[in-house]
Amino acid sequence: AGILLLEPGLMKKIAFYGKGGIGKSTTVSNLSVALTDMGYSVMQIGCDPKADSTINLTKGEKIPTVLTMMSQKGSGITLDDVVFKGSGNVYCAETGGPKPGCGCAGRGIITAFEQLELLGIYERYNPDIVIYDVLGDVVCGGFALPIRKGYAEEVYIVTSGEKMALYAADNIQQAVINNSSRGYAKVKGLVLNSRNIPNEFEAVNEAAIQMKTELLLKIPRDSIIQEAENHGMTAVEYAPQSEISQAYRKLAKIVAGETPE
Ligand code: ADP
Ligand code: MG
Repeated sequence: AGILLLEPGLMKKIAFYGKGGIGKSTTVSNLSVALTDMGYSVMQIGCDPKADSTINLTKGEKIPTVLTMMSQKGSGITLDDVVFKGSGNVYCAETGGPKPGCGCAGRGIITAFEQLELLGIYERYNPDIVIYDVLGDVVCGGFALPIRKGYAEEVYIVTSGEKMALYAADNIQQAVINNSSRGYAKVKGLVLNSRNIPNEFEAVNEAAIQMKTELLLKIPRDSIIQEAENHGMTAVEYAPQSEISQAYRKLAKIVAGETPE
């Protein structure tokens, strides 16, 4: 463990948003492990009906979701039913979602958050950093919850140079602005998860300027991610010396407030 940069006892809560499939969960899981390598205790909460945010922290196996356990156990639900220690001792939880075609995914996030808070999740585990991994295709009130009511203070937007990803990025920023009176979330910047399309860096950099925010870093596209996934692992554990793992460690330094050159 290195020197802890964040003030001890002060829980830092951040949210990662982005279009579905853009690489949020991959980025967040690698970031979580990189942060634990720096000595921080981390909690990762998946807020996507896909419920696979933490799958590569738990050996490729999905954990039961808050909404599933609520429907099975009702008021008998406990934190032990829904919080699991994964790689690097990251505390893993998934909100889950309604059955396809039934109910509302955004409403589900609200229900799951209320339940976790009622059970005292933050008090019991008291992590240094909480990371919400949130689907950003639709930023309705439910999906916007992590940036409201003081949940997350910083928002990181994962995007590629593709139009639809940048469109989602812009929507997410709008949501932060529209909710600015209800919480204290700020957009920290864009994380470019490369798709290797032509002029990708320039496109995302231009978008960052338009959005009056920053392009924080570029994560390369690397098949090591798929190899690591096949082992139910993050790249940071599977190939710690790889270029992509170094990018994730750089992101960890940014999140911890130790901005690299
Ligand atoms: P999201 O959480 O945004 O829906 P995921 O993190 O699940 O997206 O990523 C979708 C897929 O894209 C993953 O299964 C992973 O294989 C792949 N992927 C994500 N980032 C990278 C990358 N930098 N290099 C290679 N593959 C990636
Ligand atoms: Mg995901």
